[in-house]
Amino acid sequence: MPHLQLIDIDLAFGGHKVVRKLSLGLEKGRIGCLLGPSGCGKTTVLRCIAGFERLAAGEIRLGGATVSSTRTYVPPERRRIGMVFQDYALFPHLSVGENIAFGLRGETAAARRSRVAELLGLVGLADQGDKYPHEMSGGQQQRIALARALAPRPSLLLLDEPFSNLDVELRERLSYEVRDIIKATHTTAILVTHDQHEAFAVADDIGIMHEGRIQQWDTPYNLYHRPANRFVADFIGQGVFLRGRVLNDREVSVELGTLNSTVPLVCGEDCGGCTHGSDVDVLLRPDDIVHDDASALKAEVVHKAFRGADILYTLRLASGAKVLSLVPSHHNHAIGERIGIRLDVDHVVTFQDESTGLNLSAHPPADRVSAAAA
Ligand code: ADP
Ligand code: MG
Repeated sequence: MPHLQLIDIDLAFGGHKVVRKLSLGLEKGRIGCLLGPSGCGKTTVLRCIAGFERLAAGEIRLGGATVSSTRTYVPPERRRIGMVFQDYALFPHLSVGENIAFGLRGETAAARRSRVAELLGLVGLADQGDKYPHEMSGGQQQRIALARALAPRPSLLLLDEPFSNLDVELRERLSYEVRDIIKATHTTAILVTHDQHEAFAVADDIGIMHEGRIQQWDTPYNLYHRPANRFVADFIGQGVFLRGRVLNDREVSVELGTLNSTVPLVCGEDCGGCTHGSDVDVLLRPDDIVHDDASALKAEVVHKAFRGADILYTLRLASGAKVLSLVPSHHNHAIGERIGIRLDVDHVVTFQDESTGLNLSAHPPADRVSAAAA
């Protein structure tokens, strides 16, 4: 049984539904993530788990026991949940060590001292316990906040946008460090973020949220390579859709040729199996289009973004449709040049043809959206 389970939870503010029939399951010791645009309800879900909001419907179970439902409500202080926020929320008048010891009030002075020393070591601040928060950098303050949350050995750790106040470079490094620290303590955790790089760096399982629902709960690999709907395809990574026609359950023809899929084609969650001749939109990622001087297939460079190790080219095909191609940066071509390309697609992602056009930003119709429980 999952350590944390959310079963069809609903929550509204006034008449405004913020969380809709949201379900997820997280096994003990795993790090889950709610990833989605600002305002989609991520913080509200964390507040429900922590016990700061009452559910309108559904149930939350932690360690096998119901902590929230329409009939049951365990107060926050009895849930054994640790929290880390964007703004660190350290006590300015307490030293670093006293901050970490804050949640250990029931224990003996000796036990507190040894636990604080252990956590200071774990977060890489072994001899900094006597300093005060204002003497520490943002990254150090966030590690102190993490140590404080972990000190009482919480049953669950919740992190709400913990890296948002840090500059980009530090954010990336700290996200890997935070994952290592959480894993070293075998803590089950849920991270909330709008940043997919953070989600990928920290989490084992990620739920893509949109308008109060989880669109897909899956591994980072599957979210990128096998998005369940257009919203996920759009939100994770880059790509474009090309119009295609299904030939059989593993082949679809597009302007660039025939794509052979290693797995049967499924065009969206309500697809009963693609039939010969159906029109579909085919997702092509920048790594699906490979630059190859020897290829007879040519496309015109219309835009290029230099990214250091590689260049992201936007290429125009004969029909006028555009695709993206990620190319090692020593293949430097000018705008207007026609370059050889070839397809390198492993499993083909298709969605039913939508009259709204080929734009990736098309949102899935509500009936195609369903929360997948783990
Ligand atoms: P996220 O964390 O994904 O940015 P939130 O969970 O903070 O989103 O908010 C989701 C929606 O709920 C937003 O439209 C927000 O304005 C609304 N909301 C959040 N908290 C409250 C509240 N206490 N009262 C009324 N509306 C709220
Ligand atoms: Mg939030």
